[in-house]
Amino acid sequence: MTKDWNTRTRLVHSGTRRSQYGEVSEAIFLTQGFVYDTAEAAEARFIEAGEDEFIYARYGNPTVRMFEDRIAALEGSEDAFATASGMAAVNAALTCLLKAGDHVVSARALFGSCLYILEDILQRFGVEVTFVDGTDLDQWRAAMRPDTKVVFLEALSNPTLEVIDITGVSEIAHSVGATVVVDNVFATPIFQRSLDLGADVIVYSATKHIDGQGRCLGGVVCGTRDYIRGKLEPYLKHTGGSMSPFNAWVMLKGMETLDLRCRAQGETALAISEALQGHPDLERVIFPFLADHAQFDLAKSQMTMGGTVLSLDLKGGQKAAFSFLNALKIFTISNNLGDAKSIITHPATTTHQRLTEDQRQSLGITPGLVRVSVGIEDTDDLIQDLLSALKAV
Ligand SMILES: *Cc1c(COP(=O)(O)O)cnc(C)c1O
Repeated sequence: MTKDWNTRTRLVHSGTRRSQYGEVSEAIFLTQGFVYDTAEAAEARFIEAGEDEFIYARYGNPTVRMFEDRIAALEGSEDAFATASGMAAVNAALTCLLKAGDHVVSARALFGSCLYILEDILQRFGVEVTFVDGTDLDQWRAAMRPDTKVVFLEALSNPTLEVIDITGVSEIAHSVGATVVVDNVFATPIFQRSLDLGADVIVYSATKHIDGQGRCLGGVVCGTRDYIRGKLEPYLKHTGGSMSPFNAWVMLKGMETLDLRCRAQGETALAISEALQGHPDLERVIFPFLADHAQFDLAKSQMTMGGTVLSLDLKGGQKAAFSFLNALKIFTISNNLGDAKSIITHPATTTHQRLTEDQRQSLGITPGLVRVSVGIEDTDDLIQDLLSALKAV
């Protein structure tokens, strides 16, 4: 029945497993282990666990399974596995496919911790990684080798919001048999269907839009049943990166309103971008659905809305950016995103502080750049707050 349902119906109902009490709201199964009626039943479950049979919470749990089934129904993937955080998801999604001597090609504009895994951890274990400008298909083509096993990219880069051609990159990767892993956080599962565009594995930090109210860490990997149960689950259940049942319950409830929140946030993000475009104190406004965005046409063809994050480059560098942040009344200064609350951050001194000046420059992270995560507050209030703060700079 789930197959006929549209997004909002899936977000509220898919994956629900009711106990014998017939509860309306999904139950939290705060249990580490599960009881077997007989020794024979325990043996049988260890040979093969059925749909409603669990062994240990690190392997699976009814509340966690509800969340996995719901996100798989949303994403249109055969299966999903939930993790303790977005980084546990990224790490496992990549590591479960790789061994020493393998080659990986990755976009170079990455979330800081993703960069650490690719640049540091994987290479320490003998995996070679080539970084490319994600927006240049020729660079992707040139980087592929017969031993390229995995291709990794963030659908929309942080914080400069470059758009990567998922279909183009997937075709190039598949020509050498590589698996395409997409971190779809910035694009959100609501605005971009990366599996339909050709990607093989989708990763989310559920900490962001899926919780959407700044409470719990979580992550999830979506893909084929063969990949999720054959490669990813063995890696995760034995290395301990599974999601807690309580966090899974928070994520399940978050998913009920995911479409409503993302659409409201996306509409406001576009309205803010349009209101601030051409402002005399701004070098530029970066938002994928503004016509002057370098990949505007690609963004329009891949996404149904431009996302919930925009970036502003202030004239006057870091000094202007800091006074701007300090003058805001509604936007809170924090490095999170996807929250119901509007959040602003200065990437050069926080999320991207670890990079060298040269690296920041090559990624377009200028001293005046601020990243704005748009919440669900009133659109006009948010625009007024930004305009007043610009005046105060
Ligand atoms: C936040 C984020 C992550 C990491 O997620 P955590 O839940 O914080 O571990 C990975 N990728 C992107 C694009 C993110 O925004």
